[in-house]
Amino acid sequence: MKGKIVLLGTSSAMPTPERNNSGVYLLYMGRGLLFDCGEGTQRQIMKAGLSVYRTGDIFISHLHTDHILGLPGLIETLDMHDKPQVNIYSINGLSELLDCVLKGMIYAPDIRINIKEYGHSDNLFVVMEEERFTVRSIGLNHVVECLGYSFEEKPVRKFIREKIKELSLSDADFIRLKKEGYIKKYGRVYTIEQLTIEKRGFKFTYIPDTYKTENIVKLAYGSDVLVIESTYLDEEEKAKQYGHLTLEYILEIYPRLNVKKIILTHFSRRYRDTGVFEERIKQAGVKNIITGRDFLTIEF
Ligand SMILES: [Zn+2]
Ligand SMILES: [Zn+2]
Repeated sequence: MKGKIVLLGTSSAMPTPERNNSGVYLLYMGRGLLFDCGEGTQRQIMKAGLSVYRTGDIFISHLHTDHILGLPGLIETLDMHDKPQVNIYSINGLSELLDCVLKGMIYAPDIRINIKEYGHSDNLFVVMEEERFTVRSIGLNHVVECLGYSFEEKPVRKFIREKIKELSLSDADFIRLKKEGYIKKYGRVYTIEQLTIEKRGFKFTYIPDTYKTENIVKLAYGSDVLVIESTYLDEEEKAKQYGHLTLEYILEIYPRLNVKKIILTHFSRRYRDTGVFEERIKQAGVKNIITGRDFLTIEF
């Protein structure tokens, strides 16, 4: 197992006894990436058996309270655990807000808080680039500026077993191939491209608060796992007014997303349970859409 995705909160606006506010934790090779941080998120991290201390990179979609209220508390905990720094990627305005909150609470943390802020864009852009993965973002269509995020492992080249056997490659051959990019064998030259195939990496996409937009397709296309807001079942008027999605819209666009597993989240508190969503998905005969619940975990 390389990692797991844990839903920490699946409620919109207000928390309910069953559902916390927004937060999705991605544990990848020992690193903790957190997408949104609604009230109570750090406790949800603990309850899920994840490490609060490991949370090193936080991605904030927008500045509505149900997505950020947990942030000051989480920062304070990280600071109390002497974590040297935390990186936060966010829509514009977070540093000013956080500054205000921390100063107002007379709290001056030692932890270095690196905040990178972005505005709306209809084109994908990179917010974090590491050796093994990239996190990209795009603007969504909420009542305030809001960003979606996708995490994608970089493709890796895998040796083609039959070719390795056919040429009986030795350890020295592998070292040379990796270093020089080619080897000479039986009087012929073989490049690394001829002996390997490119394997695409795991992709996870998080689509928080938004009304209909093509940018959902741009960001989520080809994901292995997509966590997407589905505040309403089919209340189109409300969805338009408050800048949210309906399950009906997701059912309409999902064939174009080419996603293996879609997990719905951010349910309105009008639904005490998500049974009506499950019924509609069943009725539509769709197998790869499921309703999220707090602590739902997907390993990969
Ligand atoms: Zn929300
Ligand atoms: Zn919102």
